[in-house]
Amino acid sequence: MPKGSYLELIGGEVGLLSPLKLANLINLVEYPFFIIQTNGTLFSSDYLDVFEAFISHDKRIAFSVSIDGPEVITDKYRGKGVYKRVLKNSLELLNRGYCIQGYGVLYEDLDLSWVDSLPFKWRFQLPKDGLSIERQKELAKQLLATGKEFLYNELMPNLCVHSGNKCSSVLIADEGFSPCDRTPDIWVDSVRLCENYFKDYLTNSDCVSCEIHSFCNSGCPAWRQNGKALGCTLLKELITGLSNRYKVSIQKMLKYLWRLALRELYHIPTMGEIRKWKSCHK
Ligand code: SF4
Ligand code: SF4
Repeated sequence: MPKGSYLELIGGEVGLLSPLKLANLINLVEYPFFIIQTNGTLFSSDYLDVFEAFISHDKRIAFSVSIDGPEVITDKYRGKGVYKRVLKNSLELLNRGYCIQGYGVLYEDLDLSWVDSLPFKWRFQLPKDGLSIERQKELAKQLLATGKEFLYNELMPNLCVHSGNKCSSVLIADEGFSPCDRTPDIWVDSVRLCENYFKDYLTNSDCVSCEIHSFCNSGCPAWRQNGKALGCTLLKELITGLSNRYKVSIQKMLKYLWRLALRELYHIPTMGEIRKWKSCHK
């Protein structure tokens, strides 16, 4: 298992699994880290009480909660009342000692200064239709100027999207939905290994000579434009901007990003530590 790998649990909604089933599932799988990608509406205090009663001490579990911006934007795209529910459950997770991040789509009407008011970090992916090259350049400039470059999720090297055509992430879904919402048609059962599925997908010839090819690998094969990652320009601009800022080569910068990603993973507490934290803060 490569260093820095984690198992992401994703589904129509992971929280639809009963807390006992989710705990049993994680207990059964040997993986150093687990990330639960959730819409955040079902992980209530009652749910977590049962989950924590059954989950093994040694498991390291973090949460990534879907949220697209402040109340007016999240509710516009996800339904009325969603923001308040998600925030309430997210704060409950934080209080219990879990690592948590918000994750959403970067919509045009979002003012990024909103993230400063969130009690946890937030990252975005680009919308499915992508952004024009000019807009990506503008966005990179804005993110670099405000020190918010890590809001772009794809700067983290250990994401599935960086495996390009070798995407073979094991993704576990709840029963009835695709394990990856970008590939609804290749779902077979509740555990899907899509190894080799994308091996012949088109990549752009520019990618071969690209300096960050080993990092980007032309991006998620299910969401490309002309064989390139949706955020091709944004990613290149951000990495170049960071390497200029820290006066290091691009290759050194990529190594640094890897170290950062590993550090982030090792910050995820074990369930034993979470239990200890809980007993100290009663
Ligand atoms: S299809 Fe794309 S988003 Fe889905 S698992 Fe593969 S790389 Fe990740
Ligand atoms: S950054 Fe762009 S050109 Fe480079 S590998 Fe990724 S998609 Fe290809």
